Amino acid sequence: MSYTQDAFEVVSKRNAGEQEFLQAVKEVLDSLEPVVEKHPEYQEARILERITEPERQIMFRVPWQNDKGEVQINRGFRFEFNSALGPYKGGLRFHPSVNQSILKFLGFEQIFKNSLTTLPMGGGKGGSDFDPKGKSDTEVMRFCQSFMTELQRHIGANTDVPAGDIGVGGREIGYMFGQYKRLRNEFVGVLTGKALNWGGSLIRPEATGYGSVYFAEQMLKTRGETFEGKTCTISGSGNVAQYTIEKITELGGTCVSLSDSGGTIHDADGIDAEKLAWVMDLKNVRRGRIKEYADNFKATYLEGQRPWGIACDCAFPSATQNEIDGDDAKALLENGCYVVSEGANMPSSPEAVDLFVDKKILYGPGKAANAGGVATSGLEMSQNSMMMSWTREEVDSKLQGIMTSIHDAAAAAADEYGQPGNYVMGANIAGFVKVADSMLDQGLV
Ligand code: NDP
Repeated sequence: MSYTQDAFEVVSKRNAGEQEFLQAVKEVLDSLEPVVEKHPEYQEARILERITEPERQIMFRVPWQNDKGEVQINRGFRFEFNSALGPYKGGLRFHPSVNQSILKFLGFEQIFKNSLTTLPMGGGKGGSDFDPKGKSDTEVMRFCQSFMTELQRHIGANTDVPAGDIGVGGREIGYMFGQYKRLRNEFVGVLTGKALNWGGSLIRPEATGYGSVYFAEQMLKTRGETFEGKTCTISGSGNVAQYTIEKITELGGTCVSLSDSGGTIHDADGIDAEKLAWVMDLKNVRRGRIKEYADNFKATYLEGQRPWGIACDCAFPSATQNEIDGDDAKALLENGCYVVSEGANMPSSPEAVDLFVDKKILYGPGKAANAGGVATSGLEMSQNSMMMSWTREEVDSKLQGIMTSIHDAAAAAADEYGQPGNYVMGANIAGFVKVADSMLDQGLV
């Protein structure tokens, strides 16, 4: 048995039943086979067994009261996975599906993603099974305050710096920042995704979506193509989906879908800037369902369906994990899709990933394609510690530079290991080597 298979067995036994976590680990370890063969020092130091075990796992009770005065109990988590490159960094997810397996897969992927950004950030992830949908602002505030009352003792500007993810946007970051400041009596950059008035960075809200489009732009460039005239499908209708559409439209592409957990809208005429502004109000202010788009703009509503049956050149999964299964991937390929750039984390199932890689389409895996969000969080941290702020153009140009360098690093690693164009392998290897070498330098910790 090879070292990677051996290590995977250890991880499988220790984390039995954690399907998403094991899926993420298997993909990375499979990619690393040729690297650990070439570098026996990683096996001697048991790097694979160490990198798959979080440095610290925190789980806590979050009690709060709803507007009727009834007591509610949720579970809070923070997985501080790896600090070889810098303070733990990664989002908080509030969604009823949140559990240990989902947060561990996200925290594990975050290690390699953060490494790819070239910024000094370790990997972590956290969240709660709290569902912000249908809650009033005051209920969300009471929950966030209770959540931060416990989390604050574990995080800090030089220790662990959380950000947003599904269900955690500007509103939630604001409530949590306020509570941290009140309890610790310090105004520091302990969270990213803050509003502009109190330490946020320009372009942070846009960064994940823009970044995933910049990554796709780089992939297209390898074939001498641009977004001009391309039809694109997008899933989700939250933060990442919204800014993905904004950037694609700006670059000459046409976006024809959006979705939420209720279903998908298909607008063959394209979601232009005016329609997108309407969606932003629907989702960020009125907090409504995407079905209303179909009613308002006379588009088709595909109840309970995902967008992958719609013909397109490029697909941007921007909702959640495993939202493209093998059949969806087949449908995409049969309908002519040849670019997939993952705004979401691990949106493609292993069968879908294999199909995309086998067919040699331009496939940008999440840990590379959606790294623009955390990269710009890193830029927010830099601005906070220097007590200054960069202009929109400065941040956007740094983001573009980072996405290009992630693309090039992944492409170069894939070339080096004899799999040109395989961004999955390339991103896993390029992200891993830097962390593994840093772990070797820092001794047995
Ligand atoms: P939001 O909460 O803003 O939006 C999430 C969107 O995805 C909503 O439209 C939501 O629909 C939909 N969605 C969530 N869960 C499901 C599900 N189980 N089935 C169907 N639809 C679902 O989150 P973000 O846009 O921030 O995050 C989207 C993805 O991007 C996630 O995978 C996240 O991890 C990833 N990501 C986000 C980053 C960021 O900076 N925000 C950074 C890097 C990656 P509904 O409202 O019905 O639940």
